[in-house]
Amino acid sequence: MEIHNDNNCSWINELALRTNIQSIQSNEDCEWLVIGAGYTGLSAARKLGQLYPNQKIIIVDAQLAGEGASSRNSGYLVDTTLNDGFTSNKELDSYKKKTDIYDLGINFVKKFINEYQVDCDWNECGKYFASSKIEDEKILRNFSNTLSKLGFEHNLLFNNELSKKLGTNFYNIALFTKGGVLLHPGKLVRAMIDVLPKNVCLYENSSLLNWNKTKDIISCEFKNGKIKSKKIIFATNGFLKSLGIKSNYNFPITLTASMTRTLTDEEFKSIGEPKEWGVLPVRPMGATIRMTKDRRILIRNTAEVHNPFKMSNSNLEKRSISQKIGIRKRFPQLPDDIIQSSWSGIVSRSRNSSQIFEKIDNNVFAAGCYNGSGIGVGTLFGEQIAIKASEDSTNEIETIEARNKPTWLPPQPFLNFGVKTRLIYERLRARSEI
Ligand SMILES: Cc1cc2nc3c(=O)[nH]c(=O)nc-3n(C[C@H](O)[C@H](O)[C@H](O)COP(=O)(O)OP(=O)(O)OC[C@H]3O[C@@H](n4cnc5c(N)ncnc54)[C@H](O)[C@@H]3O)c2cc1C
Repeated sequence: MEIHNDNNCSWINELALRTNIQSIQSNEDCEWLVIGAGYTGLSAARKLGQLYPNQKIIIVDAQLAGEGASSRNSGYLVDTTLNDGFTSNKELDSYKKKTDIYDLGINFVKKFINEYQVDCDWNECGKYFASSKIEDEKILRNFSNTLSKLGFEHNLLFNNELSKKLGTNFYNIALFTKGGVLLHPGKLVRAMIDVLPKNVCLYENSSLLNWNKTKDIISCEFKNGKIKSKKIIFATNGFLKSLGIKSNYNFPITLTASMTRTLTDEEFKSIGEPKEWGVLPVRPMGATIRMTKDRRILIRNTAEVHNPFKMSNSNLEKRSISQKIGIRKRFPQLPDDIIQSSWSGIVSRSRNSSQIFEKIDNNVFAAGCYNGSGIGVGTLFGEQIAIKASEDSTNEIETIEARNKPTWLPPQPFLNFGVKTRLIYERLRARSEI
């Protein structure tokens, strides 16, 4: 099936238009085929290009490279996440494994931007887990204990101090973690496209329709041609399930976000001229909200089971209205009509918030399912799955493989029913935070 994305995302629209876009027009053979050109696929292709300068490597995307979730996210390169359970030592151990992976992810993105001198508005300004509900202090104190045990620098903040930092008095309590980076997701993924090695051939607007494996050769069918490859890496994240990859372990969730125009000097003054910041919700379905370094406000406050291949304009508009309300609640002094763009994007989730990183058959590999935190992990997993597919090993692969594996999901229609019910429950619980 074809992916029809909206073309409304500010992160994408402010970048220079790309030229020299090629799509598949004939049959080809190659040594390596990567499906999906977001952080994961581009990192895999880059690594393969470096490892095998004399081999033919093809990377394919159903839409323009990087213009899926990799350009459509909120730009938090996270060191820690909340809402993962962790009450017992066993859970603490799993949480540590998860943060070890986040840490590697941050370092891999850092290495990438240093090596290629990438400007992606990188800001090591930390992040806030914030709530308007003072009763959420208990959740944050538990989280604080966990972070202390694992050595993460953090502190709790309350109303006045918070409103000075954020420019809104909506929040009453927050836990600030020092580690964690804010960046421009579109600039980061664009740089990954720009630096693809010469022996990597990128085809765009070319959807993989079917694939099969006969005698260890993988045949892939596209609208205008076929590709035969010795090895394949699936890096389609929210679309892994639709291609039959680890179908019982991951499922797509559609998110929508909106971004305002740049605030005027007067508007910015009216909210106290805060420095760039990022807030993540304490209650899972609350809003992610961010002040960018160029004074724009980004908000994401929906997550739902929806057709991942397309969201209609009218459906997007409904979500944009809820985002306008979310901004108005926090910044009542700002005008009503400042949202410049609204967009949707697809993420992949597993039942236990764990990621997919594996050989799923001879010569067939997959990496993805980052549960909404894929900037760093996707970059890391992409490079490392290329190394794993080369039958090699690294310390990073050992760290990745020490994580808990995704757990089994019930079949449809039970899966959608269960997920929808859970999302409705969480949305109700977070209704003040949306
Ligand atoms: C609104 C939103 C906010 C988010 N916020 C954050 C955040 O703040 N921090 C964070 O770390 N993560 C965030 N995420 C998640 C993050 O964007 C993803 O985890 C990350 O982009 C995954 O990268 P990827 O390369 O694996 O997948 P993607 O970027 O989704 O790339 C997969 C690619 O596969 C292509 N594809 C799919 N099917 C086919 C096919 N059949 N044939 C060919 N190509 C195909 C798609 O077109 C797509 O380009 C957010 C996501 C969204 C949508």
